[in-house]
Amino acid sequence: MISKTIEAALNEQIKHEIYSSYLYLSMSAWAEASNYAGAAHWLRVQFHEEQEHAMKFYGYIHDQGGRVTLQGLAQPPVEWTSMLDLFQQVLDHERKVTSLINNLYGLAFKENDYATQGLLAWFIKEQVEEEKNATTIIEQLKIIGNSGQATFMMDRHLASRGK
Ligand code: MG
Repeated sequence: MISKTIEAALNEQIKHEIYSSYLYLSMSAWAEASNYAGAAHWLRVQFHEEQEHAMKFYGYIHDQGGRVTLQGLAQPPVEWTSMLDLFQQVLDHERKVTSLINNLYGLAFKENDYATQGLLAWFIKEQVEEEKNATTIIEQLKIIGNSGQATFMMDRHLASRGK
């Protein structure tokens, strides 16, 4: 059983996770159109991962006798100036999601909702991973700078991301 407050907050988070997937799909489309096939693949994997995040909240709300109510989504951006620009926005976005997860945890803590805290513990760990992954790519892209050849190699590297 979850409170109405927690139910509403988790429904809000489903929207954020779905928006994340929508944003990454938009980024993937940009990468595809810009001939960065590896980055397009990496972002498509990310798109699926965000849908899984949304579905974790979706399943949990139902498990706890709550009601899932889907909300409207904003249009994601469609243009980026470079791979570096794009991955910097991935990191910015993930940092925003981290703070949303932290706020949710704070709310569950205030309500003595231990089950929801348990669910959120997984997401807290996941966000450390998300920020680390984006940061690593950004640092590598900074080393590469304007080298077309190195950017090509980096794109090949991003293509190797598994599920
Ligand atoms: Mg997520």
